[in-house]
Amino acid sequence: MPAPNETAIRAALARVNDPEIRRPITELGMVESIATTPDGAVAVKVLLTVPGCPMKEQLTRDVTAAVQPLEGVASVSVELGVMTDAQRTELRQKLRGDAPANEIPFAQPGSRTRVYAVASGKGGVGKSSVTVNLAVALAQKGLSVGVVDADIYGFSVPRMLGVTGKPTQVEQMIMPPSAHDVKVISIGMFTPGNTAVVWRGPMLHRALQQFLADVFWGDLDVLLMDLPPGTGDIAISVAQLVPSAELLVVTTPQLAAREVAERAGSIALQTHQQIVGVVENMSWLELPTGERMELFGSGGGQAVADSLSQSTGTTVPLLGQIPIDQRVREGGDAGTPVVLASPESAAAQAIAAVAERLARRQTSLVGRSLGLTPTRG
Ligand code: ADP
Repeated sequence: MPAPNETAIRAALARVNDPEIRRPITELGMVESIATTPDGAVAVKVLLTVPGCPMKEQLTRDVTAAVQPLEGVASVSVELGVMTDAQRTELRQKLRGDAPANEIPFAQPGSRTRVYAVASGKGGVGKSSVTVNLAVALAQKGLSVGVVDADIYGFSVPRMLGVTGKPTQVEQMIMPPSAHDVKVISIGMFTPGNTAVVWRGPMLHRALQQFLADVFWGDLDVLLMDLPPGTGDIAISVAQLVPSAELLVVTTPQLAAREVAERAGSIALQTHQQIVGVVENMSWLELPTGERMELFGSGGGQAVADSLSQSTGTTVPLLGQIPIDQRVREGGDAGTPVVLASPESAAAQAIAAVAERLARRQTSLVGRSLGLTPTRG
């Protein structure tokens, strides 16, 4: 049998992605050395970005799986090391180029990421459930998706997505953990246990700024931001930090929810943001007889959409109506959103239909700087 070929090994390693950065380990400078013996033993030394990287088992597995099937390979051993400061600085340079440390990539004129800020007038209407399910449904379509849990006081996104990992830090970059192919960052990942966050406005703004600028998101197609309920500071911060973010308003059919949802949507008027549409949640409960029981009344979503259309002078569509289904709650509690756990349910299908509309939408250029500079004559 021929001895293992180093070029072939390198090519195989180029297909192994760093689990967090999601780029080939060869490109990231993580493969320090490859050694082979004539009898087919291969030793690969891989450099972790930080010591105690939570992904080391997966990396070892992935490297072994990539190299083992190659011709002439009898055994693979993976040795793990850690990057030096200089190597980490080089990595940061590779990933972020010359962008200033606190620049928000989504706010740059050439950004191709569609940013949706999910808002509701009051708590408990299903804003976070809608956010995580939309994120997973969009990722299932092959889009690259991130979620910022900006509901600083009521963070629930990590649990709903089943994210247990903590972010790792490389230089000034924070690597977001991911679950179900969705990258997630939440204030819940930075507080011990289940402690409450008692921050005031300026600190919240700073936290959000960090989530947007210092987290390495890579090239996202869609970023969803789960806002706190109401019309608070965070909504204004989002508008300042990412002016192109569009609002997605979640409401229930109930009159009271409708009124506050309209108020939440009306922030967009003050901040000149667009409203992509309204999602009505908990629209009805389907009884075993097939009959629909409208627990929270009816017509709230359409009424919010109509009212926002009128106040903004644009068409704000009702994007979908999601029925009440125990499986939505169960999926959230278990960290497996209903679009994954029970894709056949009417609730999952309603959410998937909203995701389809969001995925098909072209990024609107209205009201956006095209980044053109005048030529000098
Ligand atoms: P918010 O983010 O608006 O506070 P959540 O997404 O946390 O709301 O939802 C509040 C509660 O209602 C959660 O327990 C969630 O599982 C449940 N829930 C949300 N939408 C539905 C639905 N369509 N059917 C059943 N339960 C739902």
